[in-house]
Amino acid sequence: MSESEAKALRIILLGPPGCGKGTHSAWISEDYGIPQISTGDILREAVAEGSDLGKDAQRYMDAGKLVPDEIILGLARERLAQPDVARGFILDGFPRTIPQADGLAEILEKLEQRLDHVIEITLDREELIRRITSRRVCPNCKAVYNLSFKPPEREGICDRCGARIVQREDDTRETVLQRLEVYERQTAPLIDYYRERGLLRVVRADEGYDATRAQIEGYLGGKTE
Ligand code: ADP
Ligand code: ZN
Repeated sequence: MSESEAKALRIILLGPPGCGKGTHSAWISEDYGIPQISTGDILREAVAEGSDLGKDAQRYMDAGKLVPDEIILGLARERLAQPDVARGFILDGFPRTIPQADGLAEILEKLEQRLDHVIEITLDREELIRRITSRRVCPNCKAVYNLSFKPPEREGICDRCGARIVQREDDTRETVLQRLEVYERQTAPLIDYYRERGLLRVVRADEGYDATRAQIEGYLGGKTE
């Protein structure tokens, strides 16, 4: 095993919309020096660019439905072939269905890579709805804020890059209920899928950011550098 292989860290963050996958992926990415791969962000970029893929994906996203597996697996295959994933990655929002998980396993097998951890973040439904509907994002640098417990310093302005923060199109109450239902039906089966493979680690998000972060750090161990 080469040295870079020994140090690689490959993680999936699993959990319902609003549980904090994006927020926790961001610090994990920074602390462990591995890219955060969010299929949601990749899709939103395609929508913003107005590409054919973006136009196709937008219909599903606005309705709170999943984008078809073939599209997602195509994006994942392309992204995981980039050189910056040599030391690992953190997947945020992918895989989201059993066929996607099987597809990922196949992609990684070809790359001779193995997953290290699948971290499930749990939070009850009422709190998820509260967090999602008060979420705001920076369309420029992708920073995530929350009006109730993590507002930006200047109202409406991203702390990191100064752009005006916005509410995501799919963060409205109606779409949120649909997304939670889709999660239960299509994504929650992945919890058992990864438990059976000995990869599942569970953390609770109800005690706040610091407590959740500490639990994740407990699983991942010390920083690599
Ligand atoms: P959240 O986790 O808050 O729902 P994401 O940014 O991960 O937000 O996803 C937003 C939307 O993008 C989803 O509702 C879905 O339509 C689409 N999407 C993102 N990732 C996937 C995926 N792996 N498979 C299918 N659809 C996806
Ligand atoms: Zn910003």
